[in-house]
Amino acid sequence: MPLNPPRTVAELRELRELTGDENGAQRVAWTPTWVEAKDWLVAKLDGLPLEYEVDEAGNQWWTLRGDSERAVLLGGHIDSVPNGGWLDGCLNVAAAVEVLRRIAEDGTPPVTVRLVNWADEEGARFGRSLFGSSAAAGSMADQDELRELKDRDGVSLPEALHEHGVDLNGALQARSQLESAAAYLELHIEQGPVLESMDLPLGAVLGTFGVERHRITWRGQAAHAGSTPMDQRRDALAGAAKLALELRVIAARVGDGAVLTSGGVTCRPGIVTSVVETAEQLLDMRHLDADKLAAMWEQVREACERFAQEERLEVEYERIWQIEPILFDETLIGFADESIREVAGTSHRLPSGPLHDAAEVSRAGVPTVMLFVQSLRGLSHTKLEDTKPEHLELAVRALDGLASKTLAWAAN
Ligand SMILES: [Zn+2]
Repeated sequence: MPLNPPRTVAELRELRELTGDENGAQRVAWTPTWVEAKDWLVAKLDGLPLEYEVDEAGNQWWTLRGDSERAVLLGGHIDSVPNGGWLDGCLNVAAAVEVLRRIAEDGTPPVTVRLVNWADEEGARFGRSLFGSSAAAGSMADQDELRELKDRDGVSLPEALHEHGVDLNGALQARSQLESAAAYLELHIEQGPVLESMDLPLGAVLGTFGVERHRITWRGQAAHAGSTPMDQRRDALAGAAKLALELRVIAARVGDGAVLTSGGVTCRPGIVTSVVETAEQLLDMRHLDADKLAAMWEQVREACERFAQEERLEVEYERIWQIEPILFDETLIGFADESIREVAGTSHRLPSGPLHDAAEVSRAGVPTVMLFVQSLRGLSHTKLEDTKPEHLELAVRALDGLASKTLAWAAN
């Protein structure tokens, strides 16, 4: 049975019919629709010579035994956000099903091949993404916080997990799944506009951006909007406004894909008749290079000090969250490039802004790479999310080529 990429597109449409409605995909993790999708996946792989298990974190695993215990992993997530797109996450799983069929048909592979459907990548119901992959990677360190999480109806995360046969206390035992892993491959829609703007169907992913999030608080003096002359004001919003525009300058100076976002400013007293006394500004900064990310934060601090002086304000900083950049494996990136060129002529290397399960697996020390396929209009997490069927077919072919090269590499 040769590789049949149109079948993957047909199966993705079938999954959309089964688990979506007029508002989009509804495969939210730890819900009945998610279970339906997982059962659908089990049925798709029925009849192949695979061993099936569900690990302690709720991840589904299918194993095709090879000559060696060392395993090449193909992964994705079938869960979606509410009213999500038809491709986010499940493309990887459906494409990997097709690749697994082709490999199984060819006989015993030189190394073991495994397909994993990660549990709760999106974190849509409880606000904690990458649940299954972080458990398997051993990086899940927030179990005390996880115990307290509740959904909108007041159901706690441990209760919801329990309904699905998962015990939060034992979730980290899923770590044993990565012990034999030689490589991890993940295909995903880009969820951004870069490939479409370059008119390319596919790209090789270099890694996931490091992220720094800070709360910057500007303090001035509330004063009457009518009686306070312009040159005697200490307007906290002026500091925040200057910084919001300075972010463009910093991004251009640092370059190489640097992105900085001032995602919100809360002003107090926040009334039309008063100069702003305090402005709380939220800042998100991302870069693939840890040194450049650090330089961005340094330049933001310098700019803040300068604007504070110019506007006679005080400024304070508080880090909200951070994650270091995660770089994928050089050899596998090379294989990804080659596989893309074989099916599409041209490849392009790009970083990933969003985090993915692949970041967790890579963090655990498993050589990892991702393929991105073009997203139309760069849209995702909406029912408008789409990719041309011919590009989906190319993506299945590229994943198959990447799997072949990786299997040969892992066998040596
Ligand atoms: Zn995804």
